[in-house]
Parts: sequence; C-alpha cells; structure tokens
Amino acid sequence: MSRNEVLFERAQKTIPGGVNSPVRAFRSVGGTPRFFQRASGPYVWDADDKQYIDYIGSWGPAVLGHAHPDVIKAVQDAAVNGLSFGAPTEAEIVMAETLCSMLPSLEQVRLVSSGTEATMSAIRLARGFTGRPTIVKFEGCYHGHADSLLVKAGSGLLTFGNPTSAGVPEDFAKHTRVLSYNNIEQLHELFKASGDQLACVIVEPVAGNMNLVKPTREFLQTLRELCTQYGTVLIFDEVMTGFRVGPQGVQGYFGITPDLTTLGKIIGGGMPVGAFGGRKDIMGHIAPLGPVYQAGTLSGNPVAVAAGLTTLCLLQQPGFYNTLETQTRKLVEAFNSAAQAHGETFSADSIGGMFGIYFSETVPATFAEVGQGNIARFNTFFHAMLNEGVYLAPSAYEAGFVSVTHTDAVIEATRQAADRAFESMKI
Ligand SMILES: *Cc1c(COP(=O)(O)O)cnc(C)c1O
Repeated sequence: MSRNEVLFERAQKTIPGGVNSPVRAFRSVGGTPRFFQRASGPYVWDADDKQYIDYIGSWGPAVLGHAHPDVIKAVQDAAVNGLSFGAPTEAEIVMAETLCSMLPSLEQVRLVSSGTEATMSAIRLARGFTGRPTIVKFEGCYHGHADSLLVKAGSGLLTFGNPTSAGVPEDFAKHTRVLSYNNIEQLHELFKASGDQLACVIVEPVAGNMNLVKPTREFLQTLRELCTQYGTVLIFDEVMTGFRVGPQGVQGYFGITPDLTTLGKIIGGGMPVGAFGGRKDIMGHIAPLGPVYQAGTLSGNPVAVAAGLTTLCLLQQPGFYNTLETQTRKLVEAFNSAAQAHGETFSADSIGGMFGIYFSETVPATFAEVGQGNIARFNTFFHAMLNEGVYLAPSAYEAGFVSVTHTDAVIEATRQAADRAFESMKI
C-alpha cells in the first residue's frame, strides 16, 4: 500500500470520509486522495514524496506560487508577537485601506475568517438593509455552505427553491430564488413579478464553481440595472475571482460596480481570511453601528492578515497580472494543442489566472451546458494526468488556477504530460 492509501484508511476512522472538505475525497473522480506534505512555487509533494505540478493552488489563494518567501516571513514575524488578541490592530486598518483602494465597490469593509462567513453576513446585511426576505442566486454558483445558499432551482421559474443539502428546512429555501446563469429573460421576468420583494442578488460575476463559466457583459449589466431600479442589493461574490482575474476583481475587469462584494481565498494568502464590504450607507447597518449583528472571535487575526497583506502587496507589482494572464493563456493553448493532436472533443478557456477545461465541443455558458460535457472522459484524463505528475481539480465542475511561478518550462512539462495522458486514453 502507498502511504497515501495508508493515510486515507486511517483518516476515515476519525474524520467523516477522511477529509475536512468534501471535494478533497476524490468522490467524483474515484481513487485515493493525495495527502500533501509540502509545497513550493508551482509544485506540491504527496505523502509518497511524489511531485506534482499543482493547478489548484489551494483552490485559488496561491496566486504567488506556494510558500512565497515574503509571505512566509510575514507570517513568522507576526506570529512572534502573538497569535490573536480579540482586540483591534493597526494591520487590520492597513488591510481595509488596501482592499478599499483596490476594489471599485468598496467604501468600507469588514474582515471575517472564511468566504462562507463573508457571503452569509453580506446576505444578512442586505436583508437588514432592505427589510426584504427574498434572495436570488444562480444555478451552479457556489457561495459557501450557509443554509439559504444551499438551494437549487424549483421546477418553475417563479416557484420556490429546493434545498440541496439535508438539514436545510424548506422554510429557509423558500426565500431563495434560483435562476439560470447568463439568462437575461429570466431576470426581467422575476424582477417584474416580485422585484420589490428581493433583498439581494448574489452572483459569481465569473463563475468558477461549475468549472469556469464566463458571464456575458449584458448579463452583468442587466443585473446592475434591475437591482438599481428595484432597490435590490447587488452582491458580487468575488471570493474566488477577487485579485484572481485582475487587480480590481471582475468588477474592475467589466467596469460594473456592485453594491456589496465578498472576498476570501487570495486575500488571506493561504491563511483563513474573508471579507465583505461595499457602500458605506449599507455597511453602516452592521453592529456596532446598526442593527444587523455580525461578529467573529478570530476576525482580523494578525497572523492571517499579515499573510494576506503581503500577498496583496506583491501582486500590485507592475506586470504581475500580465504575467499571470499570459501564462494561463499559454496553458490553455497547451491543453488545446495536445487535445487536438489526439482528436479529442475538447475545449478550454481562461480569464486572468483561472482556467477551465471541458470535454465538449464548445465552452459552456450555463450549468446545464457544463453537465452536457463528457464527465467520464474528464475523470479518465484526471487520473492519467495525476499519474503523469499533474494535479488538476478532482472534479469536472471545478475551475483551475495558475500562479506566476508556472513558468514556460512548467507549462511545457504540462503539455507533454497531457500529450501522454491523451495517448494513454486511446486504448
Ligand atoms: C470558495 C468560495 C466560497 C466559500 O469560501 P470558504 O472560504 O470555502 O468558506 C464562497 N464563494 C465563492 C465564489 C467561492 O469560490
């Protein structure tokens, strides 16, 4: 037995499914998850000391590459001064100032410890601000695991949502409406029928939790216009896309400003940090200023903030996003050329430092279209690549992530691995 297998067997005795977050368990691709022991730049090493080129980057945060020396040093320096105070610190002010200076929508921001906390709090705030009950989300978008967000579409457009998780009462789900991504007609229809009931619309402005699915400009623009018209709070969930697609998030990329933004992943630089922020008049409704309660023992944790701030500082260096975007495009071209050479039905796409690969003729625009791809073929490819030392997301419904340490040589090695993987799939 490999050490990965030994660890997985042992883990399952005391941890449900052997993992602390479900996708890590390899359930959708099958096989034994790899247990990692260390990481550096674009590489990770598993418990058997096998090296992989990593295209997950901790699901996004590792945009500088793993274990960047400046980030590690910042964490070490902060740790020496104490791990947590439960009182304000100057670093939190610098963090808030940095975030507000970078993202167009942020006038004020509050730090939390995860993306889930950020979206959950933003939704409570939107409801408290508007005094309305109903929230709108889109099929295939993930916003963390708060009750009202684990909801899928009902059978008709104007019906109530259905919980996608046991433990979520239908009474909660009925306040969530689920629409199809990129569908403008549905938006108009819903707002016309019940716009004055809608507290907020929450959207991944570029979706990365149903593989990579880009919005049309009209979709985001229509969202903005309808929310303004009906006094509904527009929330861009940029937990994944914030500082991943560009230095100003998707909002800067498309020039469309939401009322509230949620952040996570990159802003913690690999440590647990989330944030939500936006218009000052809305943020003024949070405790201690206003009646919407929100709090956190470890919010603004000094060690986590040190990692996040150092990361944000490094990615503001000139040319950073140029490099990130160029390397990601090269990767997409490498996948496409390898697939083409073997006559695979395949497509790929990218934006900033995130990418999608699809075993379908064309790049999908909705959750349903992602599901029409050849998922079984992806699963085979995933294992062939794993075997070749390339670690892709273990699900056809996840996006991939590139860092600035993914050099031309690393991408060429990936192309060669893909070439061998496709070759092995012919038999
Ligand atoms: C990862 C993610 C979340 C949840 O963040 P956690 O830190 O895992 O709680 C929320 N929204 C989006 C868009 C995400 O990608």
